[in-house]
Amino acid sequence: MATALTRGGQEWVPSYLQSIDYEVCIGCGRCYKVCGQGVMAPIEKPFEGDDDDEDDMGNTVMSVASPDACIGCGACARACVKNAHTHVTC
Ligand code: SF4
Ligand code: SF4
Repeated sequence: MATALTRGGQEWVPSYLQSIDYEVCIGCGRCYKVCGQGVMAPIEKPFEGDDDDEDDMGNTVMSVASPDACIGCGACARACVKNAHTHVTC
């Protein structure tokens, strides 16, 4: 398991952002604002089927645009009111 060090030399385990559930994301942007690494980007909500009533048209959700830039700080998950983030250790 990958470990990192605090400034004081204590070990901690990074928890890297793996995915965001766009079915529960409301596109508030809180996670996007707290990330200093530019990992996420807003996108138009993808469709996996019909949107007959067109209530999803134009909705914005958050995506994992640059996963390799994540340092595993976990700030995005703590900021999310919808618990939409999935994180992993390495
Ligand atoms: S864990 Fe930290 S670095 Fe990674 S996406 Fe979330 S806020 Fe950004
Ligand atoms: S904080 Fe949660 S609900 Fe808000 S944009 Fe990010 S993933 Fe979506």
